[in-house]
Amino acid sequence: MQWLLRRCIRCGRYTLRRDRCPVCGGPLRVPHPPRFSPDDRFIKYRYLMKKKAGLIPD
Ligand SMILES: [Zn+2]
Repeated sequence: MQWLLRRCIRCGRYTLRRDRCPVCGGPLRVPHPPRFSPDDRFIKYRYLMKKKAGLIPD
């Protein structure tokens, strides 16, 4: 899923536009970029299960 929401740095409003804030014309940035893909979570989950099972030493 693509992250579409942007937040204006100047006035703090959220928008779906990519270029400029529709309210004040300020610059936009992505407020909360997704850190992990589902694949990454799956890999971490498998790692934790292996560690719990004693397959990976501390
Ligand atoms: Zn704005």
